[in-house]
This record gives sequence, structure tokens and C-alpha cells, in this order.
Amino acid sequence: MPELPDVENYKIEAEKAVGSAIRSIDITDKKFVDLKKSDLDKYFIGKKIKDLKRQGKFLFLETEGGNAIAIHFGMTGTLEFDDSNQEVPRYAKCIFQLENDRRLVYSSRRKLGKVEIATDTEQYIHDRELGQDALEISKTGFIEALKKSRSSIKGFLTNQSVIAGIGNVYADEILFQSRIHPREQTKDLSDKQIGELYGKMKKVLEKAIEKQADVSRLPGSWLLPRRKEGEECPQCSGRVEKIKISGRNGYYCPDCQEKST
Ligand SMILES: [Zn+2]
Repeated sequence: MPELPDVENYKIEAEKAVGSAIRSIDITDKKFVDLKKSDLDKYFIGKKIKDLKRQGKFLFLETEGGNAIAIHFGMTGTLEFDDSNQEVPRYAKCIFQLENDRRLVYSSRRKLGKVEIATDTEQYIHDRELGQDALEISKTGFIEALKKSRSSIKGFLTNQSVIAGIGNVYADEILFQSRIHPREQTKDLSDKQIGELYGKMKKVLEKAIEKQADVSRLPGSWLLPRRKEGEECPQCSGRVEKIKISGRNGYYCPDCQEKST
């Protein structure tokens, strides 16, 4: 599932489209885009993509006139810039045709994810109760939010209304590198642990962005390339274990990530 580092890479891809006007919008899967096509056309045809904004797992293509196209990538969404007129990808859902035979293609193997109109980006973010972006939140803001929280640390990191952008996979990596058990309660963390956790959160996300969120390019000392039950822990001789929290499978090393109580 695309998380902050994946979506940041789609943003980098979409930067190639900034400055171009949208010529047409082809919705190749009518069930996917929950809008009348005329609405998208009304707002965006002929308008230049002016700027991009990412908050958490949402990407906004901001256009002339103040409206934005809001994209959420669901479980399997991708965004590609194409200027070589390649064949339309098999799972294309929505194609933004741009000037000079260029286009942005949103694809997804599954139907989750969305493309919507945001007439006011800030209001859209507010209505969805999206928290501050994980790369933007200050250390003070992070500590304040954590002190208010009454949940497991994994639940805290993946709660999009507190910090936006981290999902199941990167939360496992951040906790592994911070040597914190995923079920640890936020109230039981020491100030030192919280400070370290904040630093690791930034480092993990930044490194993953740099490596294009490609697991095969991530450092060998990371959990992610071995995020599978029974794999050898990259830090000790222990084995990676599966753990279910809030109905979702996560992975951790019980030797490196001991629970305090
Ligand atoms: Zn270990």
C-alpha cells in the first residue's frame, strides 16, 4: 500500500507536468472515479497544473483557478508521467492528457483509491481530519501529540488524523530502528525514547524517498527487506515475528524490540 515515501515519489513524477495545461481527462474505469465526467472537465480542462502538494498519502495537483485534483492511492495506486506515447497501462483508471502529447496516468490494480475535486485544498484536508504530514511535523508537535495519545505506539504512528503518511509497513521499520515493541503504550515511553523515535521517523522516511521506496534498494540493516515471519533479524541472530495489531499484520524482532512491561 502506498505510504508517504511512495506518494512523495509520485509527486516527483508529477513535477514533470507542472506548467502544462490539461487538454482532456479520460476516465477509463467509470466505476473508479465517483464523479460525473463533466464536473472534472468543467473544473480542469484548459487549466495549467500550477503546483503540487502532498499531505500524508494524498497528492494534490493544484491548477489555475484555485481548484485541485486530489488523488489518494488506495492499496495499489500509481502515478506515471508519460511523454513517449506508450501504450496505455493495463490498469489505467484516469488519464490526464496534457499539452504536447504528454500525460499523467493514474493506475491501480484494485478499485480502492480515488481521484476527486478539491475546490479548496486546505478545507479538503480539514474535512478529512488529516493530521500534520510526518515530514512536516515539528519535534514539539510530535511530543505533544504523543503525550495526548492513549494507544499503542503502532496505532499512534499509523493514525492519519494525528500524523499523516505512515502506514503499516513504515511504522514497522520506524519501530524496529527505534527498538520499541509495536504494542508498547505511548504513555509508557520515556522522553529519550520519544526523541529517538521522532529522529528515526524522519530518517526512515527520507531514506526511503531517496531510494524511490524500492525495498530492494533499502539498506540491509533495515527490517523492511526481511519483513516476513521467520526471517533472520538484520540486527541480531533472532527471528522476525508476525504480530496482529488492530486487525493488521505487522512484523518485529522480539529480541531487539522488548516490551517494557
Ligand atoms: Zn533482532
